[in-house]
Amino acid sequence: PDLTPDLSFRFEDLQVKLAAPYQLQPKPEAQDLGFGKFFTDHMLKVHYHQHLGGWQKPEIIPLENLSIHPAAKALHYAIQLFEGMKAYRGIDDKIRLFRPDLNMERMNLSAQRSGLPQFDGAELIKCIARLVQIDQEWVPHSESSTMYIRPTFIGMEPTFGVMAPDSALLFVILSPVSVYYKSDDDSGVSMYADPSVVRAFPGGAGNRKVGSNYGPTIEVTAKAAKLGYHQVLWLFGPDHELTEVGAMNIFMVYVNEQGEKTLATPPLNGLILPGVTRRSVLELASQWEDITVAEEVITMDRVIQLNKSGRLLEMFGAGTAVGISPIGKIGFMEKEIHIPTTKQQQPVFQRVKDTLLAIQYGHVEHPFATVI
Ligand code: PMP
Repeated sequence: PDLTPDLSFRFEDLQVKLAAPYQLQPKPEAQDLGFGKFFTDHMLKVHYHQHLGGWQKPEIIPLENLSIHPAAKALHYAIQLFEGMKAYRGIDDKIRLFRPDLNMERMNLSAQRSGLPQFDGAELIKCIARLVQIDQEWVPHSESSTMYIRPTFIGMEPTFGVMAPDSALLFVILSPVSVYYKSDDDSGVSMYADPSVVRAFPGGAGNRKVGSNYGPTIEVTAKAAKLGYHQVLWLFGPDHELTEVGAMNIFMVYVNEQGEKTLATPPLNGLILPGVTRRSVLELASQWEDITVAEEVITMDRVIQLNKSGRLLEMFGAGTAVGISPIGKIGFMEKEIHIPTTKQQQPVFQRVKDTLLAIQYGHVEHPFATVI
Protein backbone atom coordinates (compact mmCIF):
# COMPACT_ATOMS: atom_id res chain seq x y z
CA PRO A 1 0.00 0.00 0.00
CA ASP A 2 1.42 3.33 -1.04
CA LEU A 3 -0.28 5.89 1.14
CA THR A 4 0.30 9.57 0.70
CA PRO A 5 0.49 11.49 3.97
CA ASP A 6 -2.87 13.20 3.35
CA LEU A 7 -4.39 9.78 4.03
CA SER A 8 -2.58 9.67 7.39
CA PHE A 9 -4.16 9.18 10.76
CA ARG A 10 -4.81 12.48 12.56
CA PHE A 11 -4.05 13.70 16.06
CA GLU A 12 -7.52 15.30 16.22
CA ASP A 13 -9.03 11.79 16.05
CA LEU A 14 -6.99 10.59 19.04
CA GLN A 15 -8.98 8.67 21.64
CA VAL A 16 -7.65 8.45 25.17
CA LYS A 17 -8.49 5.77 27.70
CA LEU A 18 -6.62 6.37 30.95
CA ALA A 19 -5.44 3.57 33.22
CA ALA A 20 -7.50 2.92 36.34
CA PRO A 21 -5.66 3.65 39.62
CA TYR A 22 -5.10 -0.08 40.25
CA GLN A 23 -3.35 -0.41 36.85
CA LEU A 24 -0.70 2.21 37.65
CA GLN A 25 2.79 0.79 38.11
CA PRO A 26 5.20 1.89 40.87
CA LYS A 27 8.00 4.05 39.52
CA PRO A 28 11.48 2.50 39.70
CA GLU A 29 14.39 4.01 41.62
CA ALA A 30 16.86 5.98 39.48
CA GLN A 31 19.72 3.54 40.13
CA ASP A 32 17.63 0.58 38.92
CA LEU A 33 16.57 2.07 35.60
CA GLY A 34 19.03 0.42 33.23
CA PHE A 35 17.98 0.63 29.59
CA GLY A 36 14.43 -0.28 28.57
CA LYS A 37 13.55 -2.42 31.57
CA PHE A 38 10.59 -0.41 32.86
CA PHE A 39 7.61 0.87 30.92
CA THR A 40 5.15 3.63 31.67
CA ASP A 41 1.44 3.19 32.30
CA HIS A 42 0.18 4.02 28.81
CA MET A 43 0.91 3.31 25.15
CA LEU A 44 -0.14 4.71 21.80
CA LYS A 45 -1.60 2.43 19.14
CA VAL A 46 -2.63 3.14 15.55
CA HIS A 47 -4.00 0.31 13.44
CA TYR A 48 -3.84 0.19 9.67
CA HIS A 49 -6.36 -1.97 7.81
CA GLN A 50 -6.48 -1.73 4.04
CA HIS A 51 -10.00 -3.23 3.91
CA LEU A 52 -11.24 -0.55 6.33
CA GLY A 53 -9.80 2.31 4.30
CA GLY A 54 -6.29 2.38 5.77
CA TRP A 55 -5.32 4.24 8.91
CA GLN A 56 -7.67 3.99 11.88
CA LYS A 57 -8.04 6.44 14.76
CA PRO A 58 -5.01 6.69 17.04
CA GLU A 59 -5.63 5.61 20.62
CA ILE A 60 -3.82 5.99 23.92
CA ILE A 61 -4.64 3.12 26.24
CA PRO A 62 -3.20 1.48 29.35
CA LEU A 63 -0.05 -0.49 28.41
CA GLU A 64 -1.13 -3.97 27.34
CA ASN A 65 0.18 -7.09 25.63
CA LEU A 66 -0.39 -7.39 21.91
CA SER A 67 -2.52 -10.08 20.41
CA ILE A 68 -0.82 -11.18 17.21
CA HIS A 69 -1.52 -14.03 14.78
CA PRO A 70 1.43 -16.44 14.61
CA ALA A 71 1.57 -15.95 10.83
CA ALA A 72 1.95 -12.16 11.08
CA LYS A 73 4.57 -11.01 8.59
CA ALA A 74 6.49 -9.08 11.26
CA LEU A 75 7.29 -12.38 12.98
CA HIS A 76 8.57 -14.14 9.87
CA TYR A 77 10.12 -11.62 7.50
CA ALA A 78 10.89 -8.82 9.96
CA ILE A 79 8.42 -6.52 8.18
CA GLN A 80 9.02 -4.17 11.04
CA LEU A 81 10.82 -1.00 12.01
CA PHE A 82 11.46 1.10 15.08
CA GLU A 83 12.72 4.47 16.22
CA GLY A 84 14.52 5.78 19.27
CA MET A 85 13.89 9.26 20.66
CA LYS A 86 14.02 10.84 24.09
CA ALA A 87 12.01 13.25 26.21
CA TYR A 88 14.17 15.39 28.50
CA ARG A 89 12.96 17.18 31.64
CA GLY A 90 14.66 20.56 31.56
CA ILE A 91 15.92 22.82 34.33
CA ASP A 92 12.65 24.75 33.95
CA ASP A 93 10.71 21.49 34.53
CA LYS A 94 9.45 21.63 30.94
CA ILE A 95 9.70 18.48 28.87
CA ARG A 96 11.47 18.68 25.51
CA LEU A 97 11.83 16.46 22.46
CA PHE A 98 14.97 16.69 20.33
CA ARG A 99 14.33 17.12 16.57
CA PRO A 100 11.46 14.60 16.46
CA ASP A 101 10.73 15.57 12.84
CA LEU A 102 13.97 13.81 11.82
CA ASN A 103 12.89 10.59 13.52
CA MET A 104 9.56 10.78 11.68
CA GLU A 105 11.32 11.28 8.36
CA ARG A 106 13.57 8.28 9.02
CA MET A 107 10.58 6.23 10.15
CA ASN A 108 8.74 6.85 6.88
CA LEU A 109 11.88 5.91 4.92
CA SER A 110 12.15 2.65 6.88
CA ALA A 111 8.42 2.01 6.28
CA GLN A 112 8.84 2.56 2.55
CA ARG A 113 11.69 0.05 2.41
CA SER A 114 9.56 -2.67 4.07
CA GLY A 115 6.19 -2.06 2.37
CA LEU A 116 4.59 -0.45 5.42
CA PRO A 117 2.27 2.52 4.83
CA GLN A 118 3.38 6.14 5.04
CA PHE A 119 1.93 8.61 7.54
CA ASP A 120 2.21 12.27 8.46
CA GLY A 121 5.08 12.59 10.93
CA ALA A 122 3.72 15.83 12.40
CA GLU A 123 0.53 13.98 13.40
CA LEU A 124 2.51 11.21 15.11
CA ILE A 125 4.64 13.77 16.99
CA LYS A 126 1.46 15.35 18.37
CA CYS A 127 0.18 11.93 19.48
CA ILE A 128 3.55 11.12 21.09
CA ALA A 129 3.60 14.49 22.86
CA ARG A 130 0.18 13.71 24.36
CA LEU A 131 1.36 10.25 25.45
CA VAL A 132 4.42 11.76 27.15
CA GLN A 133 2.23 14.39 28.84
CA ILE A 134 -0.06 11.70 30.20
CA ASP A 135 2.90 9.75 31.61
CA GLN A 136 4.94 12.87 32.46
CA GLU A 137 5.55 11.83 36.06
CA TRP A 138 7.70 9.06 34.60
CA VAL A 139 10.09 11.51 32.92
CA PRO A 140 13.07 11.49 35.31
CA HIS A 141 13.96 14.65 37.28
CA SER A 142 17.63 14.26 36.46
CA GLU A 143 20.20 14.95 33.78
CA SER A 144 21.63 11.44 33.99
CA SER A 145 18.37 9.78 33.04
CA THR A 146 15.63 10.46 30.51
CA MET A 147 12.48 9.02 28.99
CA TYR A 148 13.25 6.86 25.99
CA ILE A 149 10.49 6.83 23.37
CA ARG A 150 10.17 3.75 21.20
CA PRO A 151 7.89 4.09 18.18
CA THR A 152 7.49 0.68 16.52
CA PHE A 153 5.70 -0.33 13.36
CA ILE A 154 4.92 -3.96 12.52
CA GLY A 155 3.29 -5.81 9.62
CA MET A 156 0.29 -7.71 11.00
CA GLU A 157 -1.18 -9.51 7.97
CA PRO A 158 -1.24 -13.21 8.83
CA THR A 159 -0.15 -14.69 5.48
CA PHE A 160 3.14 -16.19 4.35
CA GLY A 161 3.69 -14.18 1.15
CA VAL A 162 6.72 -11.93 1.20
CA MET A 163 4.82 -8.81 0.18
CA ALA A 164 3.49 -5.56 1.61
CA PRO A 165 1.09 -6.35 4.47
CA ASP A 166 -2.54 -5.23 4.16
CA SER A 167 -2.69 -4.64 7.90
CA ALA A 168 -0.17 -3.15 10.27
CA LEU A 169 0.16 -1.73 13.76
CA LEU A 170 2.08 1.37 14.75
CA PHE A 171 2.63 1.64 18.49
CA VAL A 172 4.69 3.78 20.85
CA ILE A 173 5.90 2.76 24.30
CA LEU A 174 7.90 4.79 26.82
CA SER A 175 10.70 3.70 29.12
CA PRO A 176 12.59 5.77 31.71
CA VAL A 177 16.30 5.01 31.16
CA SER A 178 19.70 5.88 32.52
CA VAL A 179 22.81 6.13 30.36
CA TYR A 180 22.98 3.12 28.03
CA TYR A 181 26.41 1.88 29.06
CA LYS A 182 29.30 3.25 31.01
CA SER A 183 32.99 2.52 30.80
CA ASP A 184 34.52 1.19 34.00
CA ASP A 185 37.29 3.77 33.99
CA ASP A 186 37.76 7.26 32.55
CA SER A 187 39.69 6.17 29.46
CA GLY A 188 36.53 5.76 27.37
CA VAL A 189 34.77 2.76 25.88
CA SER A 190 36.62 -0.02 24.09
CA MET A 191 35.75 -1.26 20.61
CA TYR A 192 36.27 -4.58 18.92
CA ALA A 193 36.72 -4.40 15.15
CA ASP A 194 36.32 -7.76 13.40
CA PRO A 195 36.90 -7.43 9.65
CA SER A 196 35.09 -10.72 8.98
CA VAL A 197 31.67 -9.34 10.02
CA VAL A 198 29.65 -6.52 8.39
CA ARG A 199 26.38 -4.92 9.54
CA ALA A 200 25.53 -3.32 6.21
CA PHE A 201 26.48 -3.51 2.53
CA PRO A 202 25.88 -1.37 -0.56
CA GLY A 203 22.24 -1.55 -1.61
CA GLY A 204 21.27 -3.15 1.70
CA ALA A 205 19.11 -1.65 4.43
CA GLY A 206 21.84 -0.54 6.86
CA ASN A 207 20.63 3.03 6.40
CA ARG A 208 17.15 2.13 7.66
CA LYS A 209 16.12 1.47 11.24
CA VAL A 210 14.66 -1.99 10.70
CA GLY A 211 14.93 -4.69 13.35
CA SER A 212 16.63 -7.07 10.93
CA ASN A 213 19.78 -4.94 11.18
CA TYR A 214 20.06 -5.56 14.91
CA GLY A 215 19.32 -9.21 15.74
CA PRO A 216 22.29 -10.45 13.68
CA THR A 217 24.72 -8.17 15.57
CA ILE A 218 24.35 -10.14 18.77
CA GLU A 219 26.80 -12.94 18.05
CA VAL A 220 29.79 -10.68 17.36
CA THR A 221 28.78 -8.26 20.14
CA ALA A 222 28.82 -11.18 22.56
CA LYS A 223 32.24 -12.19 21.21
CA ALA A 224 33.48 -8.63 21.75
CA ALA A 225 32.19 -8.71 25.34
CA LYS A 226 33.90 -12.03 25.97
CA LEU A 227 37.17 -10.49 24.76
CA GLY A 228 36.65 -7.60 27.17
CA TYR A 229 35.37 -4.92 24.75
CA HIS A 230 32.27 -2.79 25.23
CA GLN A 231 31.07 -2.51 21.64
CA VAL A 232 31.65 -3.55 18.06
CA LEU A 233 33.28 -1.20 15.58
CA TRP A 234 31.65 -2.00 12.25
CA LEU A 235 34.07 -2.11 9.34
CA PHE A 236 33.35 -2.49 5.66
CA GLY A 237 35.31 -3.52 2.59
CA PRO A 238 38.91 -4.39 1.75
CA ASP A 239 40.11 -1.01 3.11
CA HIS A 240 38.43 -1.66 6.46
CA GLU A 241 36.34 1.49 6.31
CA LEU A 242 34.92 2.50 9.67
CA THR A 243 31.13 2.77 9.38
CA GLU A 244 29.51 2.83 12.83
CA VAL A 245 30.15 1.75 16.38
CA GLY A 246 27.56 -0.36 18.21
CA ALA A 247 24.31 1.51 17.61
CA MET A 248 26.05 4.86 17.24
CA ASN A 249 27.57 6.92 14.47
CA ILE A 250 31.32 7.39 14.71
CA PHE A 251 33.40 10.56 14.80
CA MET A 252 37.14 11.17 14.71
CA VAL A 253 39.03 14.36 15.68
CA TYR A 254 42.47 14.80 14.13
CA VAL A 255 44.92 17.38 12.90
CA ASN A 256 44.78 17.49 9.10
CA GLU A 257 47.61 18.07 6.60
CA GLN A 258 47.06 21.85 6.88
CA GLY A 259 47.37 21.68 10.65
CA GLU A 260 43.64 22.28 11.21
CA LYS A 261 41.73 20.48 13.93
CA THR A 262 39.20 18.39 11.98
CA LEU A 263 36.02 16.65 13.10
CA ALA A 264 35.27 13.83 10.65
CA THR A 265 32.57 11.21 10.21
CA PRO A 266 31.94 8.79 7.34
CA PRO A 267 29.54 10.02 4.64
CA LEU A 268 25.96 8.70 4.32
CA ASN A 269 26.81 6.20 1.58
CA GLY A 270 24.04 3.70 2.32
CA LEU A 271 26.06 1.72 4.89
CA ILE A 272 25.31 4.10 7.73
CA LEU A 273 22.21 4.91 9.73
CA PRO A 274 21.50 8.63 9.27
CA GLY A 275 21.62 9.49 12.95
CA VAL A 276 19.77 12.48 14.35
CA THR A 277 22.70 13.02 16.73
CA ARG A 278 25.22 12.68 13.86
CA ARG A 279 23.45 15.33 11.83
CA SER A 280 23.14 17.62 14.85
CA VAL A 281 26.83 17.28 15.74
CA LEU A 282 27.78 18.15 12.15
CA GLU A 283 25.44 21.15 12.05
CA LEU A 284 26.55 22.50 15.45
CA ALA A 285 30.29 22.00 14.88
CA SER A 286 30.14 23.62 11.44
CA GLN A 287 29.40 26.87 13.34
CA TRP A 288 32.61 26.58 15.37
CA GLU A 289 35.40 28.62 13.84
CA ASP A 290 38.26 26.62 15.34
CA ILE A 291 37.12 23.30 13.89
CA THR A 292 36.95 22.00 10.32
CA VAL A 293 34.08 19.58 9.71
CA ALA A 294 34.36 16.80 7.14
CA GLU A 295 32.24 13.89 5.92
CA GLU A 296 34.89 11.54 4.58
CA VAL A 297 35.83 7.90 4.32
CA ILE A 298 37.89 6.79 7.34
CA THR A 299 39.87 3.57 7.01
CA MET A 300 41.63 1.61 9.74
CA ASP A 301 44.93 2.37 8.00
CA ARG A 302 44.20 6.08 8.28
CA VAL A 303 43.37 5.72 11.99
CA ILE A 304 46.59 3.80 12.61
CA GLN A 305 48.74 6.26 10.63
CA LEU A 306 47.22 9.34 12.28
CA ASN A 307 47.62 7.74 15.68
CA LYS A 308 51.28 6.88 15.01
CA SER A 309 52.07 10.42 13.96
CA GLY A 310 50.32 11.82 17.05
CA ARG A 311 47.69 13.61 14.94
CA LEU A 312 44.75 11.48 16.05
CA LEU A 313 43.21 13.28 19.01
CA GLU A 314 39.82 11.71 19.68
CA MET A 315 37.24 9.20 18.56
CA PHE A 316 33.69 9.08 19.84
CA GLY A 317 30.32 7.51 19.21
CA ALA A 318 27.12 9.57 18.92
CA GLY A 319 23.52 8.39 19.28
CA THR A 320 20.28 9.05 21.11
CA ALA A 321 20.47 6.14 23.56
CA VAL A 322 24.10 6.63 24.60
CA GLY A 323 24.64 10.29 23.87
CA ILE A 324 28.30 11.10 23.20
CA SER A 325 30.62 8.29 24.14
CA PRO A 326 34.42 8.74 24.09
CA ILE A 327 36.38 5.82 22.63
CA GLY A 328 39.63 4.82 24.31
CA LYS A 329 40.72 1.65 22.56
CA ILE A 330 40.19 -0.41 19.41
CA GLY A 331 41.00 -4.10 19.19
CA PHE A 332 41.82 -4.87 15.54
CA MET A 333 43.60 -7.86 14.01
CA GLU A 334 45.26 -9.07 17.23
CA LYS A 335 46.45 -5.53 18.09
CA GLU A 336 45.24 -2.84 20.46
CA ILE A 337 45.12 0.74 19.31
CA HIS A 338 44.97 3.25 22.15
CA ILE A 339 43.16 6.48 21.32
CA PRO A 340 43.99 9.51 23.51
CA THR A 341 40.36 10.76 23.49
CA THR A 342 40.09 11.41 27.22
CA LYS A 343 43.66 12.73 27.50
CA GLN A 344 43.00 15.98 25.63
CA GLN A 345 42.99 19.34 27.40
CA GLN A 346 39.74 20.58 25.88
CA PRO A 347 38.28 17.60 24.09
CA VAL A 348 35.84 18.16 21.23
CA PHE A 349 33.68 15.25 22.41
CA GLN A 350 33.05 17.05 25.70
CA ARG A 351 32.17 20.29 23.94
CA VAL A 352 29.77 18.42 21.64
CA LYS A 353 28.26 16.59 24.60
CA ASP A 354 27.81 19.75 26.68
CA THR A 355 26.30 21.62 23.73
CA LEU A 356 23.75 18.86 23.09
CA LEU A 357 22.85 18.48 26.77
CA ALA A 358 22.42 22.25 27.14
CA ILE A 359 19.89 22.20 24.30
CA GLN A 360 18.14 19.03 25.45
CA TYR A 361 17.76 20.13 29.07
CA GLY A 362 16.78 23.69 28.24
CA HIS A 363 19.89 25.48 29.55
CA VAL A 364 19.78 27.36 26.24
CA GLU A 365 16.93 28.05 23.85
CA HIS A 366 17.54 26.29 20.54
CA PRO A 367 15.41 25.32 17.52
CA PHE A 368 16.51 21.66 17.90
CA ALA A 369 14.45 21.38 21.10
CA THR A 370 10.65 21.27 21.07
CA VAL A 371 8.85 21.92 24.35
CA ILE A 372 5.76 19.71 24.69
N1 PMP B 1 23.66 3.91 14.18
C1 PMP B 1 22.84 2.90 14.48
C2 PMP B 1 23.07 1.57 13.88
C3 PMP B 1 21.78 3.13 15.37
O1 PMP B 1 20.94 2.12 15.69
C4 PMP B 1 21.60 4.40 15.94
C5 PMP B 1 20.48 4.66 16.92
N2 PMP B 1 19.31 5.04 16.26
C6 PMP B 1 22.48 5.43 15.57
C7 PMP B 1 23.51 5.14 14.68
C8 PMP B 1 22.34 6.82 16.10
O2 PMP B 1 21.19 7.45 15.58
P1 PMP B 1 20.44 8.58 16.41
O3 PMP B 1 21.42 9.66 16.63
O4 PMP B 1 19.32 9.00 15.52
O5 PMP B 1 19.99 7.95 17.67
